Parts: sequence; structure tokens; C-alpha cells
Amino acid sequence: MAPSKDASILVVGAGTFGCSTALHLARRGYTNVTVLDPYELPSPISAGNDVNKIIEEGSPDSDDGSNYVSQRILQVAYEGWIKDPVFKPYFHNTGFIIAAHTPAGLEQLTKREMVHKKSEYEWLDNAAEFKKTMPEGVLTGDFPNWKGGWKKEGAGWVFARGALMSAFREAQSLGVKFVTGDPGNVTKLMEEGGDIVGVETKDGKQHQADLTILAAGANAPQLLDMKDQLRPTAWTLAHIKMTEEECKLYKDLPVLFNLESGFFMEPDAERGELKICDEHPGYCNWSTTPSGHRQSVPFAKQQVPLESEARVREFLSHTMPHLSSRPLVFARICWCADTPDRNFLISHHPDYKSLVLAVGGSGHGFMHITSVGGFVVDLLEGGLESRLREAFKWRPETAVDRDWENVQGRRGGPNKVMNFGDVGEDEWTNLESRL
Ligand code: FAD
Repeated sequence: MAPSKDASILVVGAGTFGCSTALHLARRGYTNVTVLDPYELPSPISAGNDVNKIIEEGSPDSDDGSNYVSQRILQVAYEGWIKDPVFKPYFHNTGFIIAAHTPAGLEQLTKREMVHKKSEYEWLDNAAEFKKTMPEGVLTGDFPNWKGGWKKEGAGWVFARGALMSAFREAQSLGVKFVTGDPGNVTKLMEEGGDIVGVETKDGKQHQADLTILAAGANAPQLLDMKDQLRPTAWTLAHIKMTEEECKLYKDLPVLFNLESGFFMEPDAERGELKICDEHPGYCNWSTTPSGHRQSVPFAKQQVPLESEARVREFLSHTMPHLSSRPLVFARICWCADTPDRNFLISHHPDYKSLVLAVGGSGHGFMHITSVGGFVVDLLEGGLESRLREAFKWRPETAVDRDWENVQGRRGGPNKVMNFGDVGEDEWTNLESRL
């Protein structure tokens, strides 16, 4: 049964999914919504607190229907980027280049990434063709063995932090309450009579609620036994400073993404910094619980392993060697939580009727900030499309004896999931923190 419009609703986490959920709850008339987060917004540990993220429109479903969910949710998300005044100002429809450079990577590129939408891409076969996609002086590298596809419209990047803060401000102006710092740092879900009746926060307070929505991203398994459905995994990003002239030259560029080595978008408008991500299957931080269970536990760090910096520089040396030795001015690890099938997990909890999960960003969650909260509210109101409900359901059976080393379709670096436990204390960058 749908909650009443004045039901007390707690959203745990004011990141991408939490802010989107708060916004959609407020828009549908829920008047008693409180969002809790340990940090003032934008939370420095939110994966959405970033200068830019890649987005793309959805394509028609494949004939066998196997792509329905991924394409349907992209279509709904994209509508938000082109129509919703809260998000529209942050979208840059600059196009997207996807590439690879080894036989295995190229096979993945053509047989999986581009397979249903080949006609939307112009094929790029050599360095000269890559260089022509951007103004002269941007791509100066020799693109060794690179091949790829260029989608000129219906894809690009968004100013992520701007969109996140815009959702937050709009939700707040519609009456949602945000509580941050220790009073927003949830330490425990309160269980009573076989249900979740609210949360406890670090300041010792108890918050009763008719409904609790867990949207704590990669930190969700710290608060609830997720039955191995989430694997907290970190990726790495680094910034270099660009000159004013370079920022002008680099304006309105398509995204350049090599699924085996890394990606970049144009410099951000606030600081004139170019963000580069080295692409790889991610890092976990393994530990063992007292009961002998293996778990990856997120931690915050505004540094990246030196091996990651080396990969960033290699990516630059292949694409823009004139930038490859420029010092880093910022870097961080950024946590996400993969489900085994990389679908979201948006579901009631099977044992606690007043607990709802809104997690499982799985590396592609940001572009859905426009709409993911709408799916959460659809679920509460019984209106979530059946195929989405099935894909997003609580599904511990998919995580039994989970293969924690599974790269889940990702490539790059050593082509395996890495472990922060293998990175020595002196094997990290040593940059000034911005916290
Ligand atoms: P988050 O945004 O991380 O939010 C979790 C929130 O929970 C945070 O605000 C945190 O402070 C809060 N929290 C944590 N613990 C507690 C607690 N105890 N109590 C209360 N609150 C708590 N997606 C794209 O679509 N395109 C991209 O190009 C893209 N690039 C990415 C690049 C990197 C390096 C990474 C790491 C991810 C990328 N993603 C991208 C994925 C996307 O950022 C995530 O899927 C999405 O942000 C996940 O949203 P979330 O709300 O689940 O988590």
C-alpha cells in the first residue's frame, strides 16, 4: 500500500540516489521527508560529487528484448536531462567517442558496447581520424592501435556536482529537511517488532519513521546485511590544471573514453581543471568480519595509488602527450557499489516491510539522477513497471558464493580487480587535500 502523503520518511544518504529520491518524493506531494548524511552537501564521499560524468540517451530495445531495462532507464533519464529545468542547465550534448586498442578490447567494443547502435557511430580507424574529432592542438598523441566509434549527438557529459546540488536545492525548497554532520550520520537501523522503525545517528539520537529508504551508496553494507549483493569498489580520478587559453581550446569537446585505458571530458568551469580517470576493474578494500565473512569496506582518501597516476600519464601520452608530465593538483578514490548483474537494487526489504533499498549504482548511476528517485517513488506507490521491478528486486540468490574477483565487464589496468591492501603506504600520491 502506498504511504500516506504525510508519512514520516527518512532517506539515509544525500548522494546521487538520495537527492533524486528526495526530489521525486517532494514533487509527488510527500510532506514529511528528512534526508540524513554525515557531510554537508555535496558530501565529499558521494560518488556524485564530481566535476563531470558521462551520459547517453537510450536506444530502441534489441529484437530479443534483452536490452529493455538498460535502454528504458536511459530513455527516462535522458528525458530529464533535456526537459527538466532542475537538470537541463548541467547537460552538455557534446557527443561521445568510445574506443579500445587491443584485440580483446576491440571485440568488446564492437560486439557489446556498440552492437545495438552501430549506425549511430562514425567509425574511427586511425590516429588521424581521432585527431579530427577535436580542434587542432587538443589531441596530439599517436593513438597506438586505437579504433573506435564517434556518436555526435545524444551523449556527452554533465556537470555532476552542479546537478546534484540543484536536485538538493529544489528538494529543500519543496520542503524536504536535510540533516548533516553527526546528527545525520546514521550508525544503525532501528529494528523493533520485526521491522525497521527508523535510525540512530552518531549524536545518539533516535529518529522514528514510518518508512526508511537506505540510499547510502557503497556504505550501505555497513548498515544492513546486503547478502553480498553489493561489492563496494573504488575507482580513481586525477585533475591537472589548464591555462585559460587551453580551457578555451578545450571547450565543447566530445567525451573521449577508451574502455581499456581511461577517459576525459573538457576542463571544469569552476577551476579550469581537466579530470582524467584511468579505466580498470576497480579496487576493493578487503577485510574479514569476526564471523569469517569477506567484505570490502570503503574509506575516504583524496589521493590515488602511484600505479594509477602512472596509468593516467600513459593515457595522456597516447592522447595528449603535451599534458602527460603536468603535475596533478587533485586526486581521489571514489566508491561505487556493484550488484552482480550491475542492475540497480531498488526494492522493499523482504523481512522489513518499512525498509526500502535504493542502491547499486554499479558504475553508471549518476546519469540517472534525473529519474532514479522516480523509480523509488513508483515502487512505493505500486506503479513501478513490472520489468523494472523484476530487474531491481532484492535478489540474494544472484550473490550466493559471489565471485568477488569478477571484473563485471570492465577492462584496463591489470584487467583484474585490485586490492588496496596491496598498495603500500608510500605508494600513494602526496597531494594537498581539499576537505
Ligand atoms: P553516492 O552518490 O556515493 O551517495 C552515497 C551517500 O551516502 C553519500 O552522500 C554519503 O555521504 C552518504 N552516506 C554514507 N554513509 C552514510 C551514513 N552512515 N549515514 C548517512 N549517509 C551516509 N555514473 C555515470 O552515470 N556516469 C559516469 O561517467 C560515471 N563515472 C564515475 C566515475 C567514478 C570514478 C565513479 C566512482 C563513479 C562513476 N559513476 C558514473 C557512477 C555514479 O557516480 C554512481 O553510480 C552514483 O553516484 C551512485 O549514487 P549513490 O547515491 O548510490 O551513492
